[in-house]
Amino acid sequence: MTWTRRKFGGFAGASLVAALHARPTRSQTKARVVVIGGGIGGATVAKYLATTPTKLDVTLVEPKQKYTTCFFSNLYLAGVRSLESLTHDYQTLTQGYGVNVIHDAAAAIDPIAKIVTLAGGNKLAYDRAVVAPGIAFKYDSIEGYDQAATQTIPHAWNAGPQTELLRLQLEGMEDGGLFIIVAPPNPFRCPPGPYERASLVAYYFKQFKPRAKILILDAKDTFFEQDLFEDGWNRHYPGMIEWLPGQFTGGIKSVDVKTRTIRTAGETFNASVANVIPAQIAGELAQRVGVADQSGWCPIDPMTFESKLLPGIHVVGDATDAGDMPKSAFVANSQAKACAFAIAAALTGSGQSAPHLFNTCFTLLAPNDAVSDAINLKPVAGSIKITDIFFSQIGESDEVRRRAAQQAEAWYAAFTRDVFG
Ligand SMILES: Cc1cc2nc3c(=O)[nH]c(=O)nc-3n(C[C@H](O)[C@H](O)[C@H](O)COP(=O)(O)OP(=O)(O)OC[C@H]3O[C@@H](n4cnc5c(N)ncnc54)[C@H](O)[C@@H]3O)c2cc1C
Repeated sequence: MTWTRRKFGGFAGASLVAALHARPTRSQTKARVVVIGGGIGGATVAKYLATTPTKLDVTLVEPKQKYTTCFFSNLYLAGVRSLESLTHDYQTLTQGYGVNVIHDAAAAIDPIAKIVTLAGGNKLAYDRAVVAPGIAFKYDSIEGYDQAATQTIPHAWNAGPQTELLRLQLEGMEDGGLFIIVAPPNPFRCPPGPYERASLVAYYFKQFKPRAKILILDAKDTFFEQDLFEDGWNRHYPGMIEWLPGQFTGGIKSVDVKTRTIRTAGETFNASVANVIPAQIAGELAQRVGVADQSGWCPIDPMTFESKLLPGIHVVGDATDAGDMPKSAFVANSQAKACAFAIAAALTGSGQSAPHLFNTCFTLLAPNDAVSDAINLKPVAGSIKITDIFFSQIGESDEVRRRAAQQAEAWYAAFTRDVFG
C-alpha cells in the first residue's frame, strides 16, 4: 500500500487529545509527574500531560534555558537559516500550560522512594517519572576523539555551540580545502543526518568555495536513502562529495586533533575541517539510573513507554530501544504522546489502547530539493514494527521536490509549535 503524508498526519494527535480529555479524575489530589529532559521528547510529554483535565502536577527538568533544534541545523551550516530561528524557550510551557520548568540537571532517581534528586540538591517526589535525555557519545570508539577533542573537531550532533563552531570553521576554510565527515555506526540519531549535512555544506561550498571537496568516511557499508542522496549529489554537486564505506577503508581507527588527521585501517586523511560524529548510546542519565541495558539503549514497553528495567519510569525519544522506530524528532514526539496517554490512563486507572506511532522525515538535498519518507508503526510482540512505508522516488520533478522543501518549512513551524507551545 502506498501512503500519502495526509494519511499519516491526521489521526494520532486528534485521538490522543480526545482520549486525554475523556479521562475523569479519580481523586482530588494531583498526581505528580517529573519529566527529565526538555528536548523534543520531554517537552512534548510535559505539554500533553499538562493539558489533561486529570489535573496532574507536571514538572520538567532541563538545564538549558533555551533549546536549539538539531533538525534544520544543517541549513544553518549552509548559511540559509540563523541559529536563533532554530531556538525555542520554555515560556509557553510555563505560562500557557502550567508546566513547572526547573532549569537544573537530574542527578539521580530513587525508583523505590520515587524521588528525583537534582544536581543542585533539590529533591522532587513523583508518582511517575519520564526520562528523555537524548543521546550520549561513545568517545572511546575512535582513538584520540574524546570530549576535549570536540572543541577542535566538533561533532555538532547536539545543536548549539558545537554547530556554531563547525560553521565558523567552514566559513574560515580555504577554497580547495577538504571537509571530512566521519559518519557513525548504527543505531544513531537521525539516519539521514550526516548525508544531509554533506549535501547542504556542498550547497554552501558551491557558492563560496567551489574547489572544495567533501569526504565522508563511514563506519557503515550502506546508508539510509543512499540512492536518493547519490542521485542528488550527482545532479547538484558533481565531483564534490565522495563517500567511502567501512568495508573499503577498514574502519575509522584514530583522530589526531592537532593535525586534523584521520586514520583508517589503510590510509591517512588530512582534513582542512573535520566533523567526527561518534557512535552513540542513550543519554548519560539513562545509563546512571539504570534504565539502559548492556546495549546502551533503554528497553521499553511498546504500549506505554514504561521502562522494562525500572517500573514507574518511562523513557521516550532517542534514548529508547524502540524496535523499528528511527531516532528522529518526529518519533520522539510521537512516542511522547503515546507515553502521556499511558501515564494519564495509569494515574486515573482508566483503560489503555494501542498507540498510533509514526514518523515522517524531510531531508534536504539542497534548500529547494527535499525528499521525504514516512512510516506507520505498531506494537507487535513486545517490540515496535513498521506496517506501512513511503519513500520519495528518484526522477521526481523539480516542482515536486520544491514543494517538498516548502512542506518541510511548514512542518518545522507546526512541529515546534506542537512541542514548545
Ligand atoms: C543534524 C541533525 C538533523 C536532524 N534532522 C531531523 C529531522 O529533519 N527530522 C527529525 O524528525 N529529526 C531530526 N533529527 C533528530 C532529532 O534532533 C532527535 O531525534 C531529537 O532531538 C530527539 O529528541 P530527544 O528528546 O530524545 O533528545 P533531545 O532533543 O536531544 O533532548 C534531550 C534533552 O535532555 C536534556 N538532558 C540530558 N540529560 C539531562 C539531565 N541529566 N537532566 C535534565 N535534562 C537532561 C538535554 O539538555 C536535552 O535538552 C536531526 C538530528 C541531527 C543531529
